[in-house]
Amino acid sequence: MAAQLKLVEESPESYLSDAYVTCRTINHSWDPYTVQVQTRQGSKERAHYVTLKCNRCECFKAFTMIRGRVVRRHGYVYPQGYLVSGGLSPQQKDAVGNAFIDLYSH
Ligand SMILES: [Zn+2]
Repeated sequence: MAAQLKLVEESPESYLSDAYVTCRTINHSWDPYTVQVQTRQGSKERAHYVTLKCNRCECFKAFTMIRGRVVRRHGYVYPQGYLVSGGLSPQQKDAVGNAFIDLYSH
């Protein structure tokens, strides 16, 4: 693996790991993590609360399914350091993309 990408020169916590660079470039690689059955109050219908975990960066994604369909998306829980305050600038996005190319072009 290549050295971590540093997005902001004066901020040591702004390093992105190789996993973060990869997930930011080609999206997460989800594996099923948990499925919990929930019975809705006043209904016999069962809902399933599903979580997925990225096998690279350990981000979590959660949603609820009823009768085999996603009915509610609960969002993501990102690992520490994945998100960059204020989002990435166009230059930082370029840096992430270039780091991805460097990482996998050996
Ligand atoms: Zn990921």
